[in-house]
Amino acid sequence: MITVTGLTKRYGPTTAVDGLSFEVRPGLVTGFLGPNGAGKSTTLRMILGLDAPTGGSALVDGAPYTTLGRPLHRVGALLDATAVHGGRSGRRHLAALARSNGIGRARVTEVLAEVGLADAAGKRAGAYSLGMKQRLGIAAALLGDPSVLIFDEPVNGLDPEGVRWIRLLLRRLAAEGRTVLVSSHLMSEMEHTADHLIVIGRGRLLADCGMAEFVARG
Ligand code: ADP
Ligand code: ADP
Repeated sequence: MITVTGLTKRYGPTTAVDGLSFEVRPGLVTGFLGPNGAGKSTTLRMILGLDAPTGGSALVDGAPYTTLGRPLHRVGALLDATAVHGGRSGRRHLAALARSNGIGRARVTEVLAEVGLADAAGKRAGAYSLGMKQRLGIAAALLGDPSVLIFDEPVNGLDPEGVRWIRLLLRRLAAEGRTVLVSSHLMSEMEHTADHLIVIGRGRLLADCGMAEFVARG
């Protein structure tokens, strides 16, 4: 469960997130929808403790991310997959993350297979296509078998098969009872994936309702 209350972030004169409050419940795919610049990434970064709020709070199972023990086992996140670079292979990349979080090697092999990177695992991650980088980022998010998953624009850069794969993955993670929050600037993407929608614009909440209700409203 994610609980956001009065969450606010200002960058100088820019208010990126403006008093947002919402909950993200387990067992559902919750879509986080808004145009570019609406404040989605800033909100997700604050939930993940990567940015400090100017006001309000963002809690995971009742506590700030930065205070969670074994955080990778609690929350997995895919943020900017284009940030993957350098000479390390996909496998080494995940192995380093696993090691620093007390996760065994067998789990690395397992998640590489799960995201379809088994064959490319030994190749330089920096040379991966964007779609492969997305899959590597998702493997990192799944590594700790977390109960909360946060994906920022996960279908960006994926081919149609990759997009279908992500949709099925999100559905499965929610069906397993996990909390799944996925951002997009495309309603067309959300229609295929989300059960619940949180819509923001200019940092403010515009809608928080079931997908069916949102579609019925027009
Ligand atoms: P979204 O993810 O919905 O596209 P962002 O959260 O990236 O939106 O951005 C929301 C607003 O905050 C935008 O106006 C953006 O320019 C601004 N912003 C985001 N990060 C920074 C930053 N580090 N410094 C200054 N402004 C920022
Ligand atoms: P280090 O292992 O170098 O001390 P971290 O463990 O904080 O540093 O992060 C290592 C890598 O794991 C970074 O690329 C970071 O983006 C990624 N990462 C951190 N937290 C998560 C998470 N909850 N889910 C997925 N990847 C994460």
